[in-house]
Amino acid sequence: MSSGPEFRPLDDVVYGRVDEVAPMLRRVVAENPSKFTYRGTGTYIIGTGEVAVVDPGPMLDSHRDALHAALAGERVTAILVTHCHSDHSPLAAWLHEETGAPTYAFGPHPPADPDDEVEDEELAEEITEGVKVEETLDHAFEPDVRVADGEVAATGPGWTVRGVHTPGHTSNHMCFTFEEEGVLFPGDHVMGWSTTVVSPPDGDMAAYVDSLRKVAGRADRTYWPTHGPSIDSPQRYVDALVEHRLQREQQVLDAVRGGLVEIPAIVALLYRDVDEKLHKPAGRSVLSHLVKLVDEGSVRVADGERARLKSRYEAV
Ligand SMILES: [Zn+2]
Repeated sequence: MSSGPEFRPLDDVVYGRVDEVAPMLRRVVAENPSKFTYRGTGTYIIGTGEVAVVDPGPMLDSHRDALHAALAGERVTAILVTHCHSDHSPLAAWLHEETGAPTYAFGPHPPADPDDEVEDEELAEEITEGVKVEETLDHAFEPDVRVADGEVAATGPGWTVRGVHTPGHTSNHMCFTFEEEGVLFPGDHVMGWSTTVVSPPDGDMAAYVDSLRKVAGRADRTYWPTHGPSIDSPQRYVDALVEHRLQREQQVLDAVRGGLVEIPAIVALLYRDVDEKLHKPAGRSVLSHLVKLVDEGSVRVADGERARLKSRYEAV
């Protein structure tokens, strides 16, 4: 990529092993590596004795067994879910059943808008092709407790967890803090190894950039993302992410001004150095920029009301 933060590799992953990654903080990585999940989903355990679990992870027997072993002797009192993608929330139902601990989240994934049927079909097609494996939705997840932005969700001995609503990757995405250690769990809002997929209609680029600025304005010392290594200078890192998105937006605007009226043509230009397998998700990312540009009035849809994958666009 042309700009953006420096991504670091996640070294030394042993699936299913419990690693103490920081004081009062353990992580178990699920064996669901992919081009969207990197090495896999990192599930976090906060505290000892009485613990909170962040993003129990995908419906994988090996991960369920690893969590079961990691939590032996602990009392789970809170299950925190950042959002309802299939690599984050599905095992919450099992863990709730097993421990009786309530689940906490901003809310369930919103139901699909009937107007988005066409987009959903396209999404389903991509899922069938295995292109967007992490993006399948866990519509079954409904939190026991809805956490408002800025609210303390749960506490235990030596730990306090607060919710920070960060719409963008999904509209219900919520980051959680571990206040005593200055830690933020950014879920998929900020990843340690790549940029985040922002896929309309639920994914929203304008909201995403606002939510990046929101977390950059906080004083958290370390991020522990679901995918990838910890981030130790998070404000600088997130500033670079914002910069990268704004640069991409300018490239999309320049492409439309230069006469490229359809998304595939814009993708072919802007992602010419990127593996073609990633051009479909790249198309959704370009769409997310176009939705923002249309809302802001610098681009319009030439052949309809709403910005869609198959729309034609023109500069205003
Ligand atoms: Zn996600």
